[in-house]
Amino acid sequence: MQSIDTYKFKGKKAIVRVDFNVPLNDKFEITDDTRIRAAIPTLKKVLDEGGSLIIMSHLGRPKGVTEKYSLKHIISRIEELLGVKVKFAPDCMKAGQEAETLKPGEVLLLENLRFYAEEEGKPRGLSETATDEEKKEAKAKLKESQKEFVKKLASYADCYINDAFGTAHRAHASTALIAKYFPNDKMFGYVMEGEIKAIDKVLHNPARPVTAIIGGAKVSSKIGIIEHLFDIVDNMIIGGGMVFTFEKALGGKIGNSICESDQLETARKIMEKAKEKGVRLYLSDEVIAADSFADDAHTQICPSNNIPDGWEGMDAAPATLQTWEKVIMDSKTILWNGPVGVFEFPNFAGGTKKIAEMLALATEKGVFTLVGGGDSVAAVTQMGFADKVSYVSTGGGAMLEYLEGTELPGIKAIKE
Ligand code: AMP
Repeated sequence: MQSIDTYKFKGKKAIVRVDFNVPLNDKFEITDDTRIRAAIPTLKKVLDEGGSLIIMSHLGRPKGVTEKYSLKHIISRIEELLGVKVKFAPDCMKAGQEAETLKPGEVLLLENLRFYAEEEGKPRGLSETATDEEKKEAKAKLKESQKEFVKKLASYADCYINDAFGTAHRAHASTALIAKYFPNDKMFGYVMEGEIKAIDKVLHNPARPVTAIIGGAKVSSKIGIIEHLFDIVDNMIIGGGMVFTFEKALGGKIGNSICESDQLETARKIMEKAKEKGVRLYLSDEVIAADSFADDAHTQICPSNNIPDGWEGMDAAPATLQTWEKVIMDSKTILWNGPVGVFEFPNFAGGTKKIAEMLALATEKGVFTLVGGGDSVAAVTQMGFADKVSYVSTGGGAMLEYLEGTELPGIKAIKE
């Protein structure tokens, strides 16, 4: 496997899969350029070493060519951040000429890959009444044209860099299939390297004790990660709305709190498994309950298994946070995924903020702290703690799947 640090880019054309799936407002202005900024070191490395760049990405979930999802909206921001003029290929399948004439130090951005169904390999435009046979046929046809799609993209360059961790869990044309055209010239970019290294630090030989803090609304979306982490962690703190499914499963009274009634058995099994594996499980002892799901609701503190009718648990109460604090401050490795309260409402963001503060303090003391998953990343960023923890994973779904122990197609394609 090649490394971006030692590869000789001089005079080479590098096709780089980045994750420039940034949010745009109604005027097509970028509202958060984190993902573009994250990829700049990789792009600069190629240019500084005398190579040229062909950048490819997806944006949104278009079902075909859609003005709203054109990557032309982000050209000027890439130019600003990279300090280089960016050429644009308005059709990613017709960029042969531009790629051919690209000189060292030059940059070509391909239009949104997902304007072609071949990128994801999912047939489009099938009628709802399509039979299984028709679906199968459409899929087989697309698979054929996908081969041409991948081959074309690969033909533009001498080497391939995957720096799109956010899509590494998808076996798409540009994230996995293309790699086989570069058996000796494929590598991870710095974003990918950083993410893999950070998550591996938790998964393989972590400094102990290891604590996972898992929050969020639903047990169902976190079962995979919770179960896999039982093999790794010493302590698991479960917070947020998920707690009430556990409390209900234990026979508690949870009022109007969010609960997945179809997951009670799962919650029971998770608790049993924790015991089997010797993992200490911490739920919330006390919560801040509200008389409606609103920021200005009336509140009271109550045990999480004895919430009055008409009230619902919204955040972790101080007594709970104190118990958790002891566990957190005694840990050497901490993984945090999911807010421990309805942090979108300032009055119920206290618990999540306190966790962020604890992690910042632990990090200062040399503890390895990894924060990941959409909402916890939003929370630490919003609260100003993003640079006070060891690593913030922007991977979302990819990070969760990696933590679940799945080998991600985008990683496998580079490694094999
Ligand atoms: P997830 O995407 O599963 O990590 O869930 C994140 C969401 O969980 C956020 O929108 C939070 O507002 C929500 N959440 C956290 N705690 C609670 C709670 N006690 N009741 C309802 N929703 C919650």
